Amino acid sequence: MATGSLRTYRKKRDFRHTPEPGGRRGGAKKASGKRKPIFVIQKHAARQMHYDFRLQVGRALKSWAVPKGPSLNPNDKRMAAQVEDHPLGYARFEGVIPKGEYGAGTVMVWDTGTYRNVTKKDDKEVPITKALKRGHVAVWLDGKKLKGGYALSRIAKGKKPRWLLVKMTDEKADARRKPTKSETKSALTGRTMQKIKKEEE
Ligand code: MN
Repeated sequence: MATGSLRTYRKKRDFRHTPEPGGRRGGAKKASGKRKPIFVIQKHAARQMHYDFRLQVGRALKSWAVPKGPSLNPNDKRMAAQVEDHPLGYARFEGVIPKGEYGAGTVMVWDTGTYRNVTKKDDKEVPITKALKRGHVAVWLDGKKLKGGYALSRIAKGKKPRWLLVKMTDEKADARRKPTKSETKSALTGRTMQKIKKEEE
């Protein structure tokens, strides 16, 4: 299922020029069913700065581009444009996509960790694939920077589905903390955007 869904990802990129992972079949270790799925949020200084929110589902990363990034305030509704699935290996990608290539600009692994699907309907757990199809997803993040529940709700279907990313009300919510402002270093390497650009370009 995941391999087929990476067709769009590959079509958009020229792997002779971009350092991004190609996500070839068999390139990474087989996913263990017992291992917790991962999430990653990448800060991406493309034409417009944004944060890419990605959830592992099988061998792929379901992906959304969030212009304002995640908030800890449950009153904030953050627009999240769903984009093509990315290969699992993308979760560790930090570097510079060269000028002229798709998504040109610096990419930082802003936060990463594992997540739990906590989507429920009528008090019953909804599997993540079903939740995505229905357009209502709730996840509990256990990242280095972000922890707690986040809800994704689809507000527009079609070729470019739009969702809202909202912090759920729980003990990890904090309206005063602005993580996109206070947390400016990579969760993977501790580097700033400037340092990544300088070292990887
Ligand atoms: Mn992006």
